[in-house]
Amino acid sequence: MAEKLVPVVCPWCSVGCRFYAVSANGYIRRIEFDYDHPTIANRGKLCPKGVASYQFINSPKRLKKPLRRVGEKGEGKFEEISWEEAYKIIASKIREIKETYGPEAIAFLGSEKITLEENYLVHKLSKAIGTNHLDFPGRYCQYSNSPARTMVFGSAAATNPFEDIAKAELIVIWGHNPAETAPVLFGQYIEKALDNGAEMVVIDPRSTRGHKYASLHLKPYPGTDLAIALAMLNVVITEELYDKEFVQERTTGFEGLKESVKDYTPEWAEKISGVPAEEIRKVARLIATKRTAFLVNEGMNQHVNGLNTAIAIANLIAITGNIGKEGVWSGVFPGAQCGFCAAMSGIAPNKLPTGKLVTDEAAREELERLWGFPIPDWIGLDLTTMVREIGNKIRMMYIVGGNIAKSMPNSGWVREQLKKLDFLVVQDIFLTETAMYADIVLPAAAWFEKTGTAISAERRVQRTYKAAEAPGEAKPDWLIIVELAKELGLGEYFKYEHPDEVLREINKVIPVFKGATPEYLAEHPEGCFFPCSEPGEGTKILFKNGFKTPDGKAHLQPVDWREPPEMPDEEYPFWLTNFRLVGHWHTGTMSFESPSLQKRWPEEYVMINPKDAKTLGIKSGDLVKVSTRRGSILVRAEVTEHIREGVIAMPWHWQANFLTLDEINEKTKMAELKAVAAKVEKVEE
Ligand code: SF4
Repeated sequence: MAEKLVPVVCPWCSVGCRFYAVSANGYIRRIEFDYDHPTIANRGKLCPKGVASYQFINSPKRLKKPLRRVGEKGEGKFEEISWEEAYKIIASKIREIKETYGPEAIAFLGSEKITLEENYLVHKLSKAIGTNHLDFPGRYCQYSNSPARTMVFGSAAATNPFEDIAKAELIVIWGHNPAETAPVLFGQYIEKALDNGAEMVVIDPRSTRGHKYASLHLKPYPGTDLAIALAMLNVVITEELYDKEFVQERTTGFEGLKESVKDYTPEWAEKISGVPAEEIRKVARLIATKRTAFLVNEGMNQHVNGLNTAIAIANLIAITGNIGKEGVWSGVFPGAQCGFCAAMSGIAPNKLPTGKLVTDEAAREELERLWGFPIPDWIGLDLTTMVREIGNKIRMMYIVGGNIAKSMPNSGWVREQLKKLDFLVVQDIFLTETAMYADIVLPAAAWFEKTGTAISAERRVQRTYKAAEAPGEAKPDWLIIVELAKELGLGEYFKYEHPDEVLREINKVIPVFKGATPEYLAEHPEGCFFPCSEPGEGTKILFKNGFKTPDGKAHLQPVDWREPPEMPDEEYPFWLTNFRLVGHWHTGTMSFESPSLQKRWPEEYVMINPKDAKTLGIKSGDLVKVSTRRGSILVRAEVTEHIREGVIAMPWHWQANFLTLDEINEKTKMAELKAVAAKVEKVEE
């Protein structure tokens, strides 16, 4: 059979690279680079994950039929059943739980792994059933930076397209490792900026790939980025380096900010973070005097005090005028290519897909007119609180494409909680660690096996197309939701036969996607930048003339220093942090099933500084036990100068979340994933 070139957006990170899947007879033979469209983000390039991106769909472990649990929860014993039977069981359980406890006993999770259309339908189904308990695992990704930027700028998304990074004079890489987690961004845009003469600064306790390009590498203790950000504000303000015209005309709250940071000197920050005061001063002065791209990510985000850090950084961006013009960049940078698909379809306990709050009566009524059914008006629970409430307020969960038994902090506790659910449905492509606790598992089609819309970290909305047939009886997530809705008697609200029809409804419901029609996206492989009010009218640079706040100004917000919830002590003397590898993705559900990636990146390890290793009598390759107050894991040691003394670090794709902390920030519900107290002991083999 003749080969076809099918355009696909990469299923992994939010750079949103596009390529061709070479498809024949329902199978993908190989990947070909797309050099035909010079305006796509990756300009024809791909990283190792992108090249291997289709391998997992051929794994023999793919789910092919619906499953019903026959063993104990977590044991992994299931029997195959038909789709009809699966839908009947789920629908009757939903009815039973609604009758016994009310719809507020049911919680839904959307996902950063499924398309915009699919997230939208998960949201619509949850509201049609009558619950606002709705969230997605990406809660633990960007929910420091995202609310912080919304508070200061009125909108969280990236200010500029990636191409502006190449035009910056200074690149600040803060708690981010783009050379491994977004390699094409590093090669395509950051390296270009460096070639153009830009300077680069890294702020990270670890030496990440590409750090050698940096003129300065600040190595704070994990969880102390806030002290550095506050001290930088102190320097910029006390040395009067801020952009006075910008502050005067485009911000409010400067005097309050000035007062709030007056005692946060670089010397104060040095005592907390371990970073020499002079280095903090140098970086602050560079930011104030150069057009700066801020690549800030999980190392800053995934902390209980991450909100305050992100607000302080947003303040810094604003007072240095590094926003609303060409040649700068800042924004949220989801780890997954469809983080924005979930966030922008309102997958949150307090949102409507329109972006308005569920408590906004007028907004609810407007959507009720479009959807045709009543929408609950109460604020639901976030993911951590949902899991805490299992067995009390929450009796049933419906999880689409999320692996919370591994991705959530303190995952041993999460698994115990999942056992207490009256009923759990998991819709996924593999029998994940979470699916092992499910009562019913529904086999989903994977990326490459369905058409839909993806949104990248530069706000680029692109279409990805079906290039392969799903195995066995697996179905696309959107179709499963539609068929289940019919079984629930909600079919009149879910009359879709193709994702294009869902996208046309999104064009009407979500204002920022009005112009991202299926027809426009089919004809324009480069997609469009949201907000996209009409086809062909995307917005490349945000905030040129005003911010999204009610008065159009950036609202500077004073914040105070806040210690991480857990600090090293005598019993647990190290800081433990974690990171991502270039060859793996999230909980490994897909990348562990990609042979070329798994072969090259086969196992986890823990990084230990040579001085700490000497004290503990540990050599590279030794088996060690890493423990926190949540539990212990066995892992091989890697003794390396690439981690600072007093800190240990491990990739998070395997077991790291058995050790992290489920304490959350009260406002954002972000947990402590990146800075916990730990100990390391050598294990005799
Ligand atoms: Fe895929 Fe990200 Fe690699 Fe691009 S950089 S090929 S989107 S994993």
